[in-house]
Amino acid sequence: MTAKIKLIVARELGFCMGVRRSIDMALSVRQQSDGNVTILNELVHNRDVIDSLSKAGIGQTFDMEDVSPGKLILSAHGVPRKTLEQASARGLDVIDTTCPLVTKVHELVEKLIDSGYHILVFGDPDHDEIRGIFGHGDSRMMTLITSASDLPKTIPDRCALISQTTQNVDDFAKLSDVLRNRFPTIEIHETICNPTRQRQEAAIELARRCEFVYVVGSASSANSMRLKEITEGICGRSMLIESPDQIDTAQLEGVSVVGLTAGTSSPDSLIAAVIKRFCSLFDVDLVTSHPEFTRIATEAGKQ
Ligand code: SF4
Repeated sequence: MTAKIKLIVARELGFCMGVRRSIDMALSVRQQSDGNVTILNELVHNRDVIDSLSKAGIGQTFDMEDVSPGKLILSAHGVPRKTLEQASARGLDVIDTTCPLVTKVHELVEKLIDSGYHILVFGDPDHDEIRGIFGHGDSRMMTLITSASDLPKTIPDRCALISQTTQNVDDFAKLSDVLRNRFPTIEIHETICNPTRQRQEAAIELARRCEFVYVVGSASSANSMRLKEITEGICGRSMLIESPDQIDTAQLEGVSVVGLTAGTSSPDSLIAAVIKRFCSLFDVDLVTSHPEFTRIATEAGKQ
């Protein structure tokens, strides 16, 4: 007999406006151009999206030197100022799809540096967005903070804290409290974006109702990693998946309520494929406020 499982889908999950905008811009450029179209770095951190852009005839490279003459697309994560200068020096036609919410952070960094501030940046080392943020300031006046345990012992008189847009909202609040207590003059700028905040709030609600949570997203996606950490911290068991095949019945032995959420770079088609996979493995009672997912589960149940 097929095991019964309640599958609860987070009320906020998947693509954010910045990711949708970036993909739409890239596809529109491809449609309107006969020449080379190349993306620098990953447009968004999701294998399915990258594969579909490649199938549409859009190239990808991690090195400006490898970009063929033509159009160059810059990712939603943003790039350092010097990348824009290099592209312009090479005569490339740049399509900058940096998310407007990341651009706001760049503008804040420029304003703070111009005003003589040292900036503490709460973020992930080696993330594209962090490289872009540092590349809009002066690295001598900026320090990357990855947790409350690596705070500096002293700070300059004029010092501000900002965040990568996809950081954990609670961790940022805790870090801010520690810094305010230690250095009362510090300026705090909470620059986590709203879509990230909404997905984290929904993931917290979800994990409280579940025994196991799947997060659709890749390990290179900062906001997907945050959703995994948050849900694991609440319900104890959470797994990041990039493909429906990663779900199997052995993982869910003895589990009756499962949660499903997805990072901002995970397309609806991938979330739908995960729901279908559940329906093929279990007798699913789907709980969702998304009509499209209800339709998919109903159709899968009839097959
Ligand atoms: S996660 Fe936030 S900052 Fe990043 S692309 Fe989406 S909306 Fe923009």
